[in-house]
Amino acid sequence: MSVYRSPAMSCRSRSLPEGHRISLAPLCLTCHSRGSVTLRSTNVRDFPIVRTNFLHDQDLANLANGLEVSRRICAAPSLARYLNCESLPGPRVGHDRKAIEDYVRSGAKTALHPTSTCAMGPEASAVVDLKLRVRGVEALRVVDGSVIPKVPRGNTTAPIIMIAEKAANMIQG
Ligand SMILES: Cc1cc2nc3c(=O)[nH]c(=O)nc-3n(C[C@H](O)[C@H](O)[C@H](O)COP(=O)(O)OP(=O)(O)OC[C@H]3O[C@@H](n4cnc5c(N)ncnc54)[C@H](O)[C@@H]3O)c2cc1C
Repeated sequence: MSVYRSPAMSCRSRSLPEGHRISLAPLCLTCHSRGSVTLRSTNVRDFPIVRTNFLHDQDLANLANGLEVSRRICAAPSLARYLNCESLPGPRVGHDRKAIEDYVRSGAKTALHPTSTCAMGPEASAVVDLKLRVRGVEALRVVDGSVIPKVPRGNTTAPIIMIAEKAANMIQG
């Protein structure tokens, strides 16, 4: 989600502006949206059903708030004097809440960090235990981002590498 303002850009254009510009990109780091990955059938060749379930009401509200705050920052006199035009979302998207939420719905993108479809935990309902062993299946561990208990606020690669190193140690005993 970006708010672009540019002194060198016609507000009527939908393309990215040329010349100097600034962008503010509100991010929803604490996501309330929860998707799922489930089996489609008992046939291992069938792809699973992946439901992303994006834009929980709270996430939508947080992103809309972020866009409003971005606009207020750009409108502050100390910054506004360097800017003369908002190119995204632009004047077509008004300042009423519904218009902003519609823009979020149509323009928000995922940061591509889904995790936790197979969360580890001490409780019997967790898919894997604290040693990443799948409950109810012998000699099977899950070692990837799916075991992270909750979608993290930060990037996923480093914690997943840590999980893999820890798992290697546990497997070696
Ligand atoms: C475009 C993009 C950009 C990203 N940028 C960043 C970034 O800048 N920084 C960051 O920290 N994170 C980033 N991420 C997120 C990060 O890459 C992922 O969260 C992370 O790679 C997930 O690791 P994983 O081990 O859980 O799964 P994966 O890396 O997806 O590994 C799963 C592996 O399992 C294999 N596999 C699948 N099915 C089978 C099967 N049936 N049998 C055997 N093998 C199988 C796959 O081939 C794959 O190698 C990005 C993700 C994307 C998509």
